[in-house]
Amino acid sequence: MEKQVFAVGDRVDKLCAKCDEERGHVVTTVTKRGLISRVSCPHCSTVSTFKLSSRTSPRMALKTPSPYDRTLTYRAGQSMIHQMFGIGEVTKLIEPGKMDVLFEDHLRRLIHAQDR
Ligand SMILES: [Zn+2]
Repeated sequence: MEKQVFAVGDRVDKLCAKCDEERGHVVTTVTKRGLISRVSCPHCSTVSTFKLSSRTSPRMALKTPSPYDRTLTYRAGQSMIHQMFGIGEVTKLIEPGKMDVLFEDHLRRLIHAQDR
């Protein structure tokens, strides 16, 4: 049995039925026991119920993304490697200069398009 406790915003890998692709999902609701009940796909925004059996192991990136650089302007779907958080994929641009990035463990908000 898996004893891991999850929190909203954590990342979990599963097959998205809509994208027909295995990808990182963001946990949107958890039970009182810390088990995942719902996840959403950052790619197509589909919210689905989560079963442990549907979980897949994180896959290795096919190629190493470029290092995160806050002076660059990112687009949704772009990958990066962050010094502290590892490999992440931009899921959403929030407002000018801010974006949500799904890392291997958690969704994080980063700045981008900053002046030097
Ligand atoms: Zn999807």
